[in-house]
Order: sequence, then C-alpha cells, then structure tokens
Amino acid sequence: DLQLSNDHKAVNVQVVLRCRPLNEDEIKARTHLVVSCDELKREVTATQYMAYKQTDRTLVFDKVFGPASQQQELYDNVVAPVVNEVLEGYSWTIFAYGQTGTGKTYTMEGEGRKEKNGKLHENAGVIPRAVQQIFDVLESERADYSIKVTFLELYNEEITDLLAVDKGLNSLYDEPKRSLLLMEDGKGAIFVRGLEEEIVSTADEIYAILDRGSAKKHTAETLLNKQSNRSHSIFSITIQSKQYNSDGSELIKCGKLNLVDLAGSENILRSGARDERAREAGEINKSLLTLGRVINALTENSVHVPYRHSKLTRLLRDSLGGKTKTCIIATVSPSVLSQEETLSTLDYAFRAK
Ligand code: ADP
Ligand code: MG
Repeated sequence: DLQLSNDHKAVNVQVVLRCRPLNEDEIKARTHLVVSCDELKREVTATQYMAYKQTDRTLVFDKVFGPASQQQELYDNVVAPVVNEVLEGYSWTIFAYGQTGTGKTYTMEGEGRKEKNGKLHENAGVIPRAVQQIFDVLESERADYSIKVTFLELYNEEITDLLAVDKGLNSLYDEPKRSLLLMEDGKGAIFVRGLEEEIVSTADEIYAILDRGSAKKHTAETLLNKQSNRSHSIFSITIQSKQYNSDGSELIKCGKLNLVDLAGSENILRSGARDERAREAGEINKSLLTLGRVINALTENSVHVPYRHSKLTRLLRDSLGGKTKTCIIATVSPSVLSQEETLSTLDYAFRAK
C-alpha cells in the first residue's frame, strides 16, 4: 500500500475528487467496484487487478465525494466558499477533469434546473447553483452591481462563441473558419476578439443564456460532426459591485468565476507526450496536456510556465496562478472497466496539488 500526502504544498490549487455511482449497465453486468472513498479521511483507494496480483493505491485529496454524494453537498462544501470569495473581488477557476462518462457535465451543469416552485432542482449542478448564490447575495446586500457572462467552446484549438447569434445554418458550417482570435491588450491582458459579453440582471437571464449556448453547441456538434467529448467549454461570470462604507466612501469589487467543463481525459497520460504521431493526428488534446503542465509548473514554483503552448492555457492565463485560485474537480468511475483511466485521472489530479 502506498500512502501519500501533499498537504505541505502552499499553492492555491484545490483538488477535489468525485466518484460517480455505478450506472445501470454496470449494475446489470455485475461490474466489480475498484474505487473506494473515505470522505472523512479525504482518501481514495483504487484497486488495480492484474494477472495474478492486486495492488491498492491510496491518495489524499483536499476533499473527496463518494458515489452517494449529492449535488448540494459538493456545492456547499466546495463551491459556495469559492463564490463568496468571487463576490469579495477574487478570481477563481473551477475545472471538471476526467474520463468521458464520469460526471464532468453532471457536476458542472447537472440535470434539471428549476422546479415549479422556483427552487433549484436537486440534480442541478455547479453552474446554476453558483448563479443562484450570486444573485441571492447581491440582492440581499442591496449592492449596485453589474454582471457579465461569456460562454465559449474550444475544439481542436479553435474558439467558438456559444453566445453569438447565428445567421442561419450556413454560418454554422463556416464556424471552424470563424474561430475567434486570442489577443493581448496594451496592458498584457488576454482577451478573445469579438466575443459576445452579455450583461445580465437576473438569474433567469443567465439560465436562458446557458440554454442558448448549450443548444448552439449541440447543433454545431451534429452538423459539423464534432465529438463532444473532445471540446472544452468555458462559462465565465464577471461581477462588479459597488457598496458604500459607513463613512459614505465607495467600495468597488470586481471578481471573476470561470467554470470549465474539460474535454474527456481518456488516453492523455498513456499516449501522453510520447506518441508524436497520435499527437499530430490531433488525437491527443493539446490544451488538456498543456493544462497539466501549467498546473504542475505553478505548483512547483517553476520559472517557466508554458501558458503559450495551448489556447486553453493562454485563454485562462490571467486566471491561473498569480492572485487567482484554481479548483479541480476530478471525476472517476468506480467500475473495473475504467480502472486504468481512473488511475491516470487520480495521478493527474494528485500531481496538480
Ligand atoms: P462526462 O461529462 O464526464 O462525459 P456525464 O456528466 O455526461 O459525463 O455523466 C455520464 C452519465 O453518468 C450521465 O448519465 C449522468 O447522469 C451520470 N452521472 C454522472 N455523475 C453522476 C453522479 N455523481 N450521480 C448520478 N449520476 C451521475
Ligand atoms: Mg460531458
């Protein structure tokens, strides 16, 4: 047994592990479970069965959520404190990382948004819950505020604006050619040229924007034959609020929250940097690979951080490292059928700490 802990590292990367329940097919097939979670000890143990032997690997994370965990639990423990900091004027990026089918989208978007009584659905994920919390707090504080959102997709290193209004089907076919450009402004800040920024004033407006963005993503996937598990989507909320101190002076806060549903991580470590041919064929997601390297460089306080090597890391450069904070929610399946991918996700996540 190998027991490791990385608690000594003083970097702003928080790593959370979530294991989904077995799905119906896996239950029918009486699949072996190979992942066990100890939420109190924050430990995950993965068992690997090989020809004649079995090895256990136990890793400690900042937080661990087992198969029975509910959306609300994860939200209250991980995301609510993050949103409070964003409202105080900090910047945060939350990533969902893991093999396709392990619950990245379930965690970030969830299923169902609102019930008829206006309450959030119990399966609603991080994004709708964060939106709700942001408006609840701002409204209770009676602050003057303005909220802007952007929603984009990165596929094959090309940026698509999920909020831009299309002029019919032809523009969808043209989409890859209309990839937006990443630019640097005079002060060195990164921005996407021409990206739509929507100013919103209620939670419902954001939900409508999310629906519009998801619908556009799905249409584009169907028409352009995109593989949805190979795209990253980034939903960003920028909050500027103005309050008055007791002496009447103004207090302005500006915070930003990026919520990132990453491409499926399958194959990333196995073929990794070694297989040049697979990489050229675009089979390995350059942005996902680079994200891992950037986070490792940041946690190791390395002088050179390879932001420039991919669109995702260039895009999020101002939101990774420095004053901003990062949270990675790594998702795994408990099934023996995924054991190798699970080990590679655990390694990627553990090295990010
Ligand atoms: P990914 O985005 O990583 O490819 P999904 O979020 O689409 O995976 O999840 C795959 C399936 O597993 C979905 O049907 C989803 O409802 C289910 N699922 C994932 N995580 C959970 C969970 N924690 N609890 C219940 N169902 C889950
Ligand atoms: Mg998904």
